Amino acid sequence: MTPVTAPKGVAVLGSTGSIGTTALRVLDRQRARFRVTALTANSNGALLREQARKFQPAFVGMVESQADADDAWKSGTDALISAATRDDVDIVLNAIVGAAGLDATLAALKGGKRVALANKETLVIAGDLVKQACAAGSGEVIPVDSEHSAILQCITGHPTSAVRRVVLTASGGPFRGWSAERLASATVDDALRHPTWQMGRKITIDSATLANKALEVIEAHFLFGLPYDRIDVVVHPQSVVHSFVEFIDGSVVAQMSVPTMELPVLYALTHPERVADDGVPAFDPVKLSPMTYEPVDHERFPALRLGISAGVAGGAAPAVYNAANECAVAAFLAGKIRFGDIPSAISSALDKVGDMPGGTREQLLAADAAARRYVQEMFKC
Ligand code: NDP
Ligand code: MG
Repeated sequence: MTPVTAPKGVAVLGSTGSIGTTALRVLDRQRARFRVTALTANSNGALLREQARKFQPAFVGMVESQADADDAWKSGTDALISAATRDDVDIVLNAIVGAAGLDATLAALKGGKRVALANKETLVIAGDLVKQACAAGSGEVIPVDSEHSAILQCITGHPTSAVRRVVLTASGGPFRGWSAERLASATVDDALRHPTWQMGRKITIDSATLANKALEVIEAHFLFGLPYDRIDVVVHPQSVVHSFVEFIDGSVVAQMSVPTMELPVLYALTHPERVADDGVPAFDPVKLSPMTYEPVDHERFPALRLGISAGVAGGAAPAVYNAANECAVAAFLAGKIRFGDIPSAISSALDKVGDMPGGTREQLLAADAAARRYVQEMFKC
C-alpha cells in the first residue's frame, strides 16, 4: 500500500561505504516512503557519481575536493554540515567512519532532524553533547548498529526503569579461539576475514580486537541511559541474536534475524513503525542453528575492558580511547604495527592523556588530537 504522506527526505552521509551502500539498497526499495535528497562521500568520486545519477539528489558533497567533480558538487568538511542541515532533509543517515562524523551529527540534531546513527564514534566521543544537541533542537538519535537496534526494538514501549540489564552479543571476530601466540603474529588479511559480517576495514579490525564491542557498550550507555554495570557482553558466533534485554521481572526478550544490516537501517528510518520490505532473507531457525554463547576472553582481547573503564571514567577518556584506537588501527592497516600493539597503544594513551577535561566540544577535540599525537609518536608513524 502506498503511504499518503509525502516521502521523507534522507541525507546519506558516507554513501560510498559499507553502510552507505546498504542504506541506498534499502532506500531504493522504499522510494514510496523516502527520497534521497543529499549524498556525501570522502574520496570515492566514481561511486558517488554513479549514486547521484541513480538517485538524483538535490545535494552532492565530496569531502576531498576532486578536480573533475561536477561544478554543482560541494567539497570540504562543510559539505557534511550543509547536507545534514538542509530543509529538504528529515532524516540524516550518518554512515561516516570515525570522529569525522561528529559535527554533522550535532548539527543535524540541533536542526531538529532524526539522525539514523551508524557512526557510533559520535556517541563515544561526545555522548553528553549529543544529548544536549537533542534537547536544544528536538532532534533524535535512532541507532543503526545492529545490537542497539535490537535493544530499541525490544524496549520500545517500556521505560528504562523496567530494564534490569542489556546483553550485547559479539561474534567474537576472526580470532575467536586463537591462542595468544598465534594472535601475536596475526596479519592484516587474517584480521580482515570477519566470519559473519561484510563491513568497512576499520570496524572489521575493531571487531577483531573487540574494541568495537567497547565502543558499543559506551554507545548503549548513552542511547539507553543505562549505567555500565547494567550492560553486559556475550560472545555469540552465529550473529543471529543481535542483543538481549532482561526486564525486572526476569523475562528476557531478544531480537533475531539473519545477519544483515539492511534490517537495522530500515528500522532506523521507520521507528517505531514497521513497514513491509522483502530485502531480508527468510528466518529459518533450523538452518540457523545451533546458536551458541561463550564468555568474552578478556585476557586475549583487553581492548573491551579498556573501553568499558574509559566509559566509566567519563570526561575525555572515551574520546581518547576512540582516537588512540582509530590511529592504531590505521597504523596496523598500513602494516606499521602488529595486531597486539593496538590495545597497548590505547592503554598507554589512556594513561597519558585520558584524564584531560571533556566538558565541551573543543576540549574533546583537544583530547582527541592529543591521543592521536601520542600514538603517532609512540610508533613513529
Ligand atoms: P566504510 O569505511 O565502509 O565507509 C565509510 C564512509 O565514510 C565512506 O563513504 C567514506 O567515503 C566516508 N568517509 C571516510 N572518511 C571520511 C571523512 N573524513 N569525512 C567524511 N566521510 C568520510 O565504513 P562502514 O560503512 O563499515 O562504517 C561506517 C560507520 O558505521 C562506522 O562508524 C562503523 O563503526 C559503523 N557500523 C558499520 C557496520 C557495518 O556493517 N559496516 C555495522 C555497524 C556500525 P569514501 O568511501 O568516499 O572514502
Ligand atoms: Mg554492532
